[in-house]
Amino acid sequence: MRAAVLEEHGEPLAVKEVDYPEPEPDQVIVETEACGICRSDWHAWQGDWSWIGASVPEGQILGHEPAGVVSAVGEDIETLQEGDRVAVPFHLGDGTCSHCREGRANNCETVIPLGLSGIAPGAFAEAFPVREADYNCVKLPDDVDFTEMAGLGCRFMTAYHALADRADLRPGDWVAVHGCGGVGLSAIHIADALGAHPIAVDVREDKLERARELGASATVNAAEADNTAQEVKALAGGGADVSIDALGIAETCQNSIGSLGTRGTHVQVGLTTGEEEGQIEVPVDVMTMQELDFHGSFGMPLVRYEELFKLIGEGTLEPSKIIGETLSLEEAPETLSSMDSYETVGIPVITEF
Ligand SMILES: [Zn+2]
Ligand SMILES: [Zn+2]
Repeated sequence: MRAAVLEEHGEPLAVKEVDYPEPEPDQVIVETEACGICRSDWHAWQGDWSWIGASVPEGQILGHEPAGVVSAVGEDIETLQEGDRVAVPFHLGDGTCSHCREGRANNCETVIPLGLSGIAPGAFAEAFPVREADYNCVKLPDDVDFTEMAGLGCRFMTAYHALADRADLRPGDWVAVHGCGGVGLSAIHIADALGAHPIAVDVREDKLERARELGASATVNAAEADNTAQEVKALAGGGADVSIDALGIAETCQNSIGSLGTRGTHVQVGLTTGEEEGQIEVPVDVMTMQELDFHGSFGMPLVRYEELFKLIGEGTLEPSKIIGETLSLEEAPETLSSMDSYETVGIPVITEF
């Protein structure tokens, strides 16, 4: 089968023939129908995350935002069969630790990230295996198509968990979103749909334009602003109730915290780059005196899909709005490389394998 392989960090992915996977007893094989290309793929490709022991090995097949059809099942599989339409959240849990038993695969003690670990080849391929598949596969409702589901495997669901669960967003809240890539634009749309007032911050006018189309009440171009955090605060009538760093560089993290009003909540969604190596200075005294919260947010508990599908089914949320271009597997290396300059608008999704 064809797959896009990371042969050397920073060099274009190699699209080539590899062996078709065989399922282990706990696994299913999923034929990929759609898979998003994400900033996390770009980080992995750069060789980032050695500082958290998570550098992706060379030889890896990337791809962690897939939707597809089950094509083979291992002998221990009980709830899935060939032909099932599934999405696979990127955080593959073991299904047995205390967090998994609460439905929180995103907090699993032995989590394996799909496509970002040597033992979990990803979905930039015609097919891929899923560990503990009974636990980890999410069956798709009939009314959600594969392409929109690709965004739900990572960025859309990540934004939903960050806002609805970690920030406990309420209607009427002012929400600053720093960084309007896939997860940031998802957060804008979700905040708007849940009755909050999103303020989009980015350095590119085309991304801010897209944010306005998705419901941003206001936008700030951080490349032109004298003081980005102060501008956001003024727009939010004194300070945002919730602010998200959807990128993961020092500037967006610090601007996000600086955008908050008293007792506001910062949610860190973006992971850092080789520039920060996981360390960013934050204004501890201000955070203490203004009683600001700093929350991390990672993926989404599997038990939250039911609510997400309900909101999609009734039309409140439309993940298809975040999809940027669709492309072929052969075009994936070039699209990934172009993320160096933050050129992609919306979520690029591979739909031809
Ligand atoms: Zn992703
Ligand atoms: Zn677990």
